[in-house]
Amino acid sequence: MKTAIFAGSFDPITNGHIEILKKGVKIFDKVIIAVAGNSEKKPLLSVEERIELIKACTKNIQNLEIGAFEGLTVEYAKVKNAHFLLRGLRSISDFDYEFQMAQINEDLSESEIETCFIPASTQNMYISSSMVKEICFNNGNISNYVPKEVFEYLKK
Ligand code: ADP
Repeated sequence: MKTAIFAGSFDPITNGHIEILKKGVKIFDKVIIAVAGNSEKKPLLSVEERIELIKACTKNIQNLEIGAFEGLTVEYAKVKNAHFLLRGLRSISDFDYEFQMAQINEDLSESEIETCFIPASTQNMYISSSMVKEICFNNGNISNYVPKEVFEYLKK
């Protein structure tokens, strides 16, 4: 069984994340979306709220599990018996960081875990949780960047 971990802060989950998830479940038998706890300096949502929103907007995606973790992603992957890390790639500016992370994770996992990248579509490549957060804090309109469940929740 090919299981992949899609780790991130998901604060909040965006259309960009959903695109990668939908594509990921076509490639792997199972994708575990793993919310990294306590990694945000200025969080918008608690880990519990993020998980509830992820549940609400991924209910139609098959072969998906939702989890939360603290610490190293490779350690969580080992616990879950996952041999792949799924990552989205938006732009050349993502590349340096992602390449570095992939190398480190390869090393930490003693080559047991492989990082796989899926490119963002042109429609979603400019979306990031941090941008959405910034717009939210300034009462802007995020409807084009997040699933409707997230939009409705944050409107409140
Ligand atoms: P962000 O980078 O938006 O703050 P995360 O840290 O939660 O979000 O990122 C988790 C994963 O989702 C990473 O692999 C990241 O590259 C990917 N990702 C984030 N936004 C997008 C997007 N718009 N398109 C494709 N992948 C994305």
